[in-house]
Amino acid sequence: MSPKLQQAVWRERSRERLAELQAGGSPRWAIEVRSPAVIEPRAAAMACPQCGGSYRIHEHTRPRPGLRRVDVGCRQCSTPRALWFRLVDDEPN
Ligand SMILES: [Zn+2]
Repeated sequence: MSPKLQQAVWRERSRERLAELQAGGSPRWAIEVRSPAVIEPRAAAMACPQCGGSYRIHEHTRPRPGLRRVDVGCRQCSTPRALWFRLVDDEPN
């Protein structure tokens, strides 16, 4: 692989990594879900930005109505992370 191509690949990976960090990384960037039932499967399906490992759910709390916080830890490197989800109504009337 040429150094130029390698750099392009590296840039692409850091962008992906940044996106992962933002999505669900804070209440402001909470991931919208339609049902509380999908929150834990979604959290467990997300990959650790450090090593790509999957998450183990530690705690699922409701800091305020409609907002959920899931504390997770990576199964591989143990990096802790808080994931935020917002419940949205299925059909706005
Ligand atoms: Zn990890």
